[in-house]
Formats: sequence, structure tokens, C-alpha cells
Amino acid sequence: MAQNTDHFEKCENCTNRVSTYNYNPQTIRGNYLCKSCVSSYEVCARCGLHYKFGETNGAYCQECDD
Ligand SMILES: [Zn+2]
Ligand SMILES: [Zn+2]
Repeated sequence: MAQNTDHFEKCENCTNRVSTYNYNPQTIRGNYLCKSCVSSYEVCARCGLHYKFGETNGAYCQECDD
């Protein structure tokens, strides 16, 4: 059986591999976050995507803060 690596991507913040098969947090850049790194990010209250602390001004990401 071939190894199925299609459902893994690198965490945006570290070198951990993140399974995209199950639900995992995504950043506003469309990258995935592992469980260790998600606590270093804030979540947008509108779209539910994650962004780094200080990356935006308020509770919303740049996409939603219009
Ligand atoms: Zn990570
Ligand atoms: Zn947003």
C-alpha cells in the first residue's frame, strides 16, 4: 500500500506536519497550524481564520475589517 501523504501539510509556524484530513485551524494565508502553534495565534471572530498577534488591529482579520 502506498503511503498517503496527500493529506499532510506543514504547519505555517513550525516544521510539524499537519493532517488536513481532519479539521485543523487555518490562517488567513490559507496555511495550516498544528496544535502547538495555534495558541500563538488569534482567531478572527468573523471568518474563523487565524492570524498572528499584532498582525491586525482589532478582533477581525484584514479581510473582514472593512
Ligand atoms: Zn506548528
Ligand atoms: Zn476574518
